[in-house]
Amino acid sequence: MTTGCSSGSEPRARPSPNQDERPAGTTVDTLVLHYTGMRNAGLALDRLRDPVAKVSAHWLVDEDGTILALVPETRRAWHAGVSAWAGRAGLNGSSIGVEVVNPGHEWGYRPFPEAQILAVIRLCRGILRRWPIPPARVLAHSDIAPDRKTDPGELFPWSRLAAAGIGRWPAACGEPVADPRASLRAIGYPVDLEGVSLELALAAFQRRYRPGRVDGHADPETRRLLGAVERLQFG
Ligand SMILES: [Zn+2]
Repeated sequence: MTTGCSSGSEPRARPSPNQDERPAGTTVDTLVLHYTGMRNAGLALDRLRDPVAKVSAHWLVDEDGTILALVPETRRAWHAGVSAWAGRAGLNGSSIGVEVVNPGHEWGYRPFPEAQILAVIRLCRGILRRWPIPPARVLAHSDIAPDRKTDPGELFPWSRLAAAGIGRWPAACGEPVADPRASLRAIGYPVDLEGVSLELALAAFQRRYRPGRVDGHADPETRRLLGAVERLQFG
């Protein structure tokens, strides 16, 4: 599926049966980014279209920048699983899911190629134009399921996306927060819910905002970043 260079061209349709109606009255207000976590793009695409697997996403972005359309954005794709953010559980109904091809931590996690990053930025900008998704609801799968998921992982270029208007990145750090648990909750992390311990939520936060140190410990730098992100959310 990586034949030819299609960066910049129209997305290709590869419909997945793993979709259904969004619940009545649901507003799409969340964007969730994933990595595929499989050995190669072909295997990932097969799985995302396999009726037995019951998983999908709206979009798949290959390493060469090819964008594949799997599920219409008006429909519910099955990408998030058991998940929660800011007090709301089960985010498939209200989100757009983008799968970014990468073997992931299990099969040889590696940097996301430039062509792929540019395609992700282009795709996400379009999604944010089409739907009322605030910056604070551009999320990693690991943000909404810290007990189960580590994707798209600490190599994902969140700061570049933020510079392109997709999500936010903390610019400067103030005082360390006194209560990391309260801060994580204020930001939206499902800490103490669904089996998510403080340590797992901290690791998810670090994977997103402090990629150089993902250890689940609330050291002063992590607590400063918690305060900075909290201010971004509500400042
Ligand atoms: Zn995922």
